[in-house]
Order: sequence, then C-alpha cells, then structure tokens
Amino acid sequence: MESQGRRALPGTVLASAAIAAFAVVVFAVNFGGPRGLLLLWLPASLSTIIPVVLAVRLAMEDRLARPARIFWGHLAGCAGLVGVGAALNTMDAIGHGAPTQAMSPVTLGAYGAAVVVLLIGMFRLPLGTSGRGDRIRVVLDAGTVLLAAAVFMWQYQFRPMLQDDATQATSLLGLGAIIVVEMLIVFAIAKVALSGFAYVAPLALRMFALGLLVGAMSGMLQRFVSDHVHLNTAQVTIPLVMICATVAAEAQRRERPGRAQRRRTRKKSFSVLPYLAVVAVLVLLVAVSWAYPDLRPAVLAAAALTALVVWRQITAFRENADLVARLDHSSTHDALTGLPNRALFHQRLADALAADQPVSIALIDLDDFKTVNDTLGHGAGDALLTTVAARLRDSVREGDTVARLGGDEFVVLLAGITPAEAELLARRMIASLAEPVLADGHELLVRASIGLADGGGATRSGSGELKAGAAARSGAGVLKAGVVGVAAESGSEDGGELLRRADIAMYAAKHGGGSNVQRYSSGMAGAVADTASLGAQLRDAIAGGGLRLAFQPIMSVDGTRMRGAEALVRWQHPQRGLLAPAEFIPVAERTGLIVPLGEWVLRAACDQLAAWTADLGPLAPARISVNVSARQLSEAGFATRVADILATAGVPARRLTLEISEAVPAGPLEELRRMGVRIALDDFGTGRSSLALLHELPIDQLKLHGSLLHGDMPAAVLALAAAAGLDVVAEGVETAEQAATLAALGYRAAQGFHLAHPMTATAVAELALRLPVPAA
Ligand code: C2E
Ligand code: CA
Ligand code: CA
Repeated sequence: MESQGRRALPGTVLASAAIAAFAVVVFAVNFGGPRGLLLLWLPASLSTIIPVVLAVRLAMEDRLARPARIFWGHLAGCAGLVGVGAALNTMDAIGHGAPTQAMSPVTLGAYGAAVVVLLIGMFRLPLGTSGRGDRIRVVLDAGTVLLAAAVFMWQYQFRPMLQDDATQATSLLGLGAIIVVEMLIVFAIAKVALSGFAYVAPLALRMFALGLLVGAMSGMLQRFVSDHVHLNTAQVTIPLVMICATVAAEAQRRERPGRAQRRRTRKKSFSVLPYLAVVAVLVLLVAVSWAYPDLRPAVLAAAALTALVVWRQITAFRENADLVARLDHSSTHDALTGLPNRALFHQRLADALAADQPVSIALIDLDDFKTVNDTLGHGAGDALLTTVAARLRDSVREGDTVARLGGDEFVVLLAGITPAEAELLARRMIASLAEPVLADGHELLVRASIGLADGGGATRSGSGELKAGAAARSGAGVLKAGVVGVAAESGSEDGGELLRRADIAMYAAKHGGGSNVQRYSSGMAGAVADTASLGAQLRDAIAGGGLRLAFQPIMSVDGTRMRGAEALVRWQHPQRGLLAPAEFIPVAERTGLIVPLGEWVLRAACDQLAAWTADLGPLAPARISVNVSARQLSEAGFATRVADILATAGVPARRLTLEISEAVPAGPLEELRRMGVRIALDDFGTGRSSLALLHELPIDQLKLHGSLLHGDMPAAVLALAAAAGLDVVAEGVETAEQAATLAALGYRAAQGFHLAHPMTATAVAELALRLPVPAA
C-alpha cells in the first residue's frame, strides 16, 4: 500500500524542490529591484505545507516507537508555526504600502514559538542509552561540544560587540538571547547526534541538522540584503529548510521497521564530535595567540600535547571498537564454518519478510552425519561440515544467506525468488553435495535432505500450494490445527513459522529415503503429529515422575574447589531411554510444557541443595544454578513462585542462580534480584546471548560459551565483565591447556568435561567429600 517503488524520488520531495527552486529564481530576479513582491513571498509559507502533512502522518504512525512519534509531532508543530510566521511576515513586508524588512512582534512571536517547539521536541527525544555509563558519556560529550561552541561565540560574536563602543545595552541583551538560543541548538544537535540515532532514521537526523544550519544562516545573511528593503533571506531559506524537512520525513517513512530496533541494541561507543570540538578550539587558540610571539612556544606545545592525547584516545577507542566488532561477529557467526548462525539467520529472515518480498527457505540436514562423527572422530566430522558449508555457499546466488543452525543442520535464505527457482537451487545443492568429500583422509559420500518452505510476498500473490500457507497464517489451515500452541498471527513470528514448515518438509524428505528435496505442504501434518505425541508423552513424564536431574559441578579453574552445581534435566523415556535436553526441550518450548517442566526442575534442584546441606553441612555445594527459559520468566507471578519454592525447600535466595540465554523481560529479573536470587547470562557469545543482552539485562554473572575459549576472546570477555562488575564462569572447558590458559588470565570459575561431567546427586556429594579444599 505505502511502498510504491523504494528507489524513485518521492513526489513530495520533488514538489518541495520545485517550490525552493522557484523561490531562488524569483529572489534572483528581484535582486536588481522589486518585480512581483507577492511571488517573492509566496513560496515561504507554501513550502511548509508538505512537511507539516508528512510530519503529522508520522506522528500518527503506530509502526513507530512512541518517542519517535512525539518527536515528529513537535516537528509538525514547528513547521506549522514557521508557515504562520512566514504568512504574517508577508503581511508585515508588503501589507503597508512601501515594502519593509521590519517584523511585527506577532511575527517574531510565531518564529520564536517555532524554535521553542523544536527545542522541546529535541530535548524530549530519549537518549536511547541503557547504562548509567552511557548516559554520563553522552552528557560529557555534549558538554564538550557546548563549551567549544561557547568559546567561538565569545570570540567572534560577543567580544567584538563589547569592544564596539557604539553598542548599546539593549542590543547586547538581544545578542545574549540569540547566544542562549544558539547554545541550546548546539546542545540539542550534539545530544541527538551522540545518542546514537536511537529512534529517528539517520538520514532524517542528518537532513534535520542541515535544515537547522540553513535556518541559522538566514539571520547572518540578512545583513547582505539590508539595503534591498523588499528582500528578506527568509524568502529563500524557509523553502530550503522545508526541503530538508520533507526529505527527513520521507526517510523516516521509508525506513524498514526492524532497523531502528537493531540500532537501539547496537550502541555506538565512540563519536568524533567531541574530538572535533577540541581540535577546533585548539586551532582557535593558536590563531588568536599568534599575535603574541613570546606566547607561541607554550601555545604550540599545549596544542601538540592535546593533539597527542586525542590521538592516543582515538587509537584506544579504535582497538576497543575492533574488539567489540569481533565479539559481535563471533556472536552472530558459527566458529567452525564461519557461516552466519541461527540468530543472524533469524534476523535476516525477519528483514526479508519485512521487505514484503517472496522468500523461500531451504533447510538442509545431512543424512547419517552422526555415524561419521562416531566412527571417524570429530576431526573428520568438522572437516565434513566445513566442506558442506563451502559447497552450499557455492551453489546459491550471491547475496543468499547460508547459515548453520547447529550440528549438521544448515539453512539457506532465498529472497526475491519464485518457488520453482528455489526448488532448482535446492536440487543444485543436493547435486553439489553428492560429489565425494575428502575429510581427514577419508573419502565420504554425503547425502542431504532438504525441506523447502515459501513465504513473504509470495504467499499473498502465489497460487496453489502457497495458498495453504496463507490459510495456515490466517488460522484456518491444517497446520495450525495440528500443532499444539503455535500461533502465527504477528509478522515477527512468520520467520519461526516458516522455519517450522521447512523443518516438517525436511523430515518428510528424510522419511522418503534421504538425498531428496521436499516442499512443505499442509498434508505433511503427520510429522507434526509426532511432535504432538511427543508433547503428550512429555506432559505425562512431568506429572508422573519421568524426569531426572543431572548436576554438573562448577569448579575453581584449578579443579580443587566446588563453587556450585548446575542442574541439567534428563527424561527417562519408557521406550527411547535417557533423553538429553536437546531432544525434548524444543518440544517443551513449542508446546508451552516448558513452564511446568521448568518449575519441576527448580523445585527438584532446590530440594537437592537442601538435602546436600543436611548431609554434608559446610562441604555441600554453595549454590545451585538452574536454567530458565524466556517463556517461564514471562509468566505472571514467576518471582513469587520462585520465592515459594525456596521457602518450601528452606534454601536462602542467595544460594540460587537462574541462568537465562535469550532476551527476557527485565521486570521479573529485577524482582528476583531484589529477593537475592542471582541471574546468569548463559552461553554468552553465541546466538541469542550476545553483547546486546549484556547491556540490556540486569545480571550478576556471565557464562562464556565453550566455543569462545580460543584466541584473545577469553581475555576480552573477562575485561568486559570486570568493567560491568560481573562474575564470569568459563563453560565447556575440555582440556587441561584450556584450564591453564584461563587460570593464567585470571578466571576463577569454570565448568566442563575436563573438571567434571554432569553426574548424579550422589556423585556430587562424593566429589565434595573428596576435594582437598572445602567448598567456598
Ligand atoms: P547449558 O545450560 O549450556 O548446559 C551445559 C551443557 O553443556 C550441558 O548439556 C552439559 O552436559 C554440556 N557440557 C558440559 N561440559 C561440557 C564440555 O566440556 N564440553 C561440551 N561440549 N559440553 C559440555 P545438556 O545437559 O545436554 O544440556 C543442554 C542444554 O539444555 C543446556 O545447555 C540448557 O540450555 C538446556 N537445559 C538443560 N536443562 C534445562 C532445564 O532444566 N531447563 C531449561 N529451560 N533448559 C535446560
Ligand atoms: Ca546453563
Ligand atoms: Ca551454557
């Protein structure tokens, strides 16, 4: 509806440009002498109409965040007042016989009100920062810029006026007022620029700053036309400012919904603005003091020193930014294959769907990969995965996203493609994988099953098969009926829904004998029924005592002390034996059973801690860590439930740590921390658990994922955690070398097969009794 042609210049911008061009031409024609005074003034008030309409529409756009809507509301008000001011100004100028440049108080009032409304809008725009440190940084930076601006104003505006004997007290007062307004504008621009474009589209802000600059110049240029009484710089500057406003509003309107959200989580930690301010003042200092030769050496030395310090600072910031970028990369990419990981894939999928284009995804699963891993070893398995990754990348188009979801599961995002083309590409992938792979000296034959699902713009315009998808989306499809607890109404869930369909199709391909492509169809509900029946069995297991807990000790890095234990759930399945969480937690998440399951785990873990304490006294593990999923934390009254469980078990809150690994509401976390419960950010550095969460959530501990125990990552993360005042636990420590490296870096706590495998409660007690040093 709204998005006709993303690339073409919108008509509104063209119209604004035409008005401004007209204004400039008429101004030029009138330079020699008055020729058509009304035409000279008309563009000024006329040009405000388009930006006002656009800004009002943005203010009412519910797709935008509230702070952004308020901002555009103020902008609409400001442009409207400028329009009224320009109309009044026209009457002042040509309504009284001879043309004049004088303005009535009412006109001045309208222009002044426009500035006030604008400033209020800018000050109300939230900083978009989360931490206190961030806020302090923005205030300090803005203060620096402000101080620099003040020095310039003093030097070039105020001081000359003071020295000018003719200057009267009243004009000094007026000058003072202008300076105050100028300072406010500088501060407002600095604030908006430094707060990292949290809510307003970057192009919009840039246009906005340009508009302010042009507006500010208007007054300064006025003295060049003071002897052409019929001319007023406002006649051209207002239309010029209004083009900026129009472009800004269009930029905001065209921004994709997901972008602002991402900017908000990816903060910029460095801005050149304050450094430019420092350099500008230095240049000023040198220029002004040049007249006094005996001051030169000292001034130059001071300037050089400051420049060196600035240089050093910028280098440090660069290094820091580099590190953050690498952390960011490792949290969005798979360490083994270098492909985007699940999190980045979901991001790109959401973007592609938001862009309203046809999207197909191909889910690829290797047949019998587990056998390769088990019989030939991990080296061969890793080599195989790396080769598969490379071949998949080679068989798709430039710009398609090939991601590794985990294990031997890959996914390809194909955007702007017809279903038939997508199928062709999928067959090409199968063919390229069919070539034997040389892995670790073994020649292997890889077979893959691919499931295809189509969505995005295609489901709206497509035919036949695709309509089934549309039906499921609207709630009438077979799929919706078959899956327990799946809702796919909102746009943001479409991605997950698409992936589930590809998953179903992939299983169908596997059942069809492997090495084959299947496209999702609603008839594949049989596979879904499997999930449903597993869900039903799980429900029985939770109620009927089929779940077990394993405990993995969290040790001092040297392995001499037990600092706590993490509870890990297992399912004793009547037919399939002891199942690991990976085999049933996803089903529990999909079906909502994660809530009662999680509550069982929490209760059993707290009871176990109480039992250890009764048996072992001071030798018992000091703390128990329990994994909780976002779904549990979103349940109303979760914190109260935790308090009840702790009270029943007789365990103090400070002995419980809850581990989260994805975005969760901060409210319940705060409540839990007030009770004394500690919060850990699990699997830090992977997929869903990354830097952004670290900034956003109130946490006490960071668990560094095992995939990051290489290079200088551990040191970087330790520094990061120290700066944020967090504990760190290194996870997945598998070798003595890793433990030694971590110890040398200053890590204190670690978890992993090298130190202790997950074990029974009894085994934990035996270990506690055996350790040389009692539990801390
Ligand atoms: P997690 O919280 O990161 O738990 C650590 C997992 O890493 C455990 O797998 C553990 O056996 C494994 N592990 C420990 N040391 C090493 C090592 O040195 N190398 C390697 N490669 N792996 C190691 P497990 O028990 O299969 O649990 C898998 C995941 O399932 C857990 O990851 C956690 O996210 C989830 N999970 C387990 N229990 C629960 C639960 O009660 N509730 C919820 N929501 N999730 C759970
Ligand atoms: Ca965990
Ligand atoms: Ca973990």
